Amino acid sequence: SNIVAIVGRPNVGKSTLFNRLLERREAIVDSTAGVTRDRHYGKSDWNGVDFTVIDTGGYEVNTEDIFQEEISKQVQLAIDEATSIIFMLNVEEGLTDTDSEMYEMLRRSNKPTYIVVNKVDSAKEELAATEFYQLGIEKYYTMSSATGSGTGELLDDIVKDFPTTEYKDPFEGLPKITIAGRPNVGKSTLTNALLDVERNIVTDIAGTTRDSIETLYNKFGHEFVLVDTAGMRRKAKVKEDLEFYSVMRSVRSIEHSDVVIIMVDATQGWESQDMNIFGIAQKNRKGIVILVNKWDLVEKETNTMRDFENAIKTKIGQFTDVPILFISALTKQRILKAVDVAMEVYNNRAKKIKTSKLNEVMLPIFENTPPPALKGKYIKIKYCVQLPTPSPQFVFFCNLPQYVKEPYKRFTENQLRKEFGFSGVPIEVYFRQK
Ligand code: GDP
Repeated sequence: SNIVAIVGRPNVGKSTLFNRLLERREAIVDSTAGVTRDRHYGKSDWNGVDFTVIDTGGYEVNTEDIFQEEISKQVQLAIDEATSIIFMLNVEEGLTDTDSEMYEMLRRSNKPTYIVVNKVDSAKEELAATEFYQLGIEKYYTMSSATGSGTGELLDDIVKDFPTTEYKDPFEGLPKITIAGRPNVGKSTLTNALLDVERNIVTDIAGTTRDSIETLYNKFGHEFVLVDTAGMRRKAKVKEDLEFYSVMRSVRSIEHSDVVIIMVDATQGWESQDMNIFGIAQKNRKGIVILVNKWDLVEKETNTMRDFENAIKTKIGQFTDVPILFISALTKQRILKAVDVAMEVYNNRAKKIKTSKLNEVMLPIFENTPPPALKGKYIKIKYCVQLPTPSPQFVFFCNLPQYVKEPYKRFTENQLRKEFGFSGVPIEVYFRQK
């Protein structure tokens, strides 16, 4: 999907705009169970067009004295990766040299760029904002955090300019799997081990724009497509392994996939970047498998594996029904097992439970353990269905859905997992009035 990146000097107000773009959608997402909020990445839509928003400021190393060099890297990344760029300025501080340098990079890139002047709360600031015409720009949008005005016109224009790519997927219908993870965890090593370097790569198909490389894997009874944006790396101008960079890469691959393999380095453990990737996969409701790689380097005692697994599980939040495997991409230890498990997760995600079966299993559970009564009112769950969505979502019809609280929703989710097996798959549970 289209990626909109917000760039600008530290503290110009990038996250304010980011939050505003996400407001409506986030409100919906938050009302469902088990969703971790990730403040730097989000999905939004305008006039029915979906897009992804990235707040590059969320990945600033040190927001107070970020180096010039870091800033220009950030801009270059946005240029390499995003569909459109929102460039933020701040009327309070006026036009700075850094602003001018950043804008120069954007201008030269020819990426669709939208200039937003923030903190324009009055006529006086409206006038002051005209200073930014010095950049040689035709148009800017003003934003006021006081009134909240100014995003509608901006979004109209951004969405209108999105490229229309009618892309025919040559691997339509096949499972799509991506290998994500921090730099140097062993993604390429695993990819090469699986594909024996005999890569059947589809790069460019005439008349289409592609932002990932897809490779067919067809061995040992499995057929799927490895989605790989890391392979596109050479094309990008920035070589550094910034967090923001790898997140941008991951976002694209994840959105194109059914299952995300998150690789971590056994010698380093689970870190915040891994959590970011996990959160993005979860938010997109993709299947997830965690591979702890370089297991050959770890001194093992009786409980090493279990301890490692528990350490990860306590960090990943509520959604812990995720397979964790210990592999060595280098020695190829358990890599075929990893493929089996990824395919299992794919099947779990695609699983559709028949309505009759679902009711037969779930209604007695609700009978035995009903939601706690509230204000003397009893909640009766009468009927349930699985929605025909790409990832499992269930609706439970009952008399007083507003009384069903978070713990009971989690209980319901856990029962579904226990009864039907949804390992590695985020599931949604909704309670509705019949
Ligand atoms: P990527 O950046 O995630 O694609 O990581 P690479 O596949 O390039 O691997 C980074 C480094 O880790 C290379 O030197 C690999 O040889 C090494 N490496 C990858 N997997 C393993 C493993 O399972 N065991 C050991 N000991 N080294 C590994």
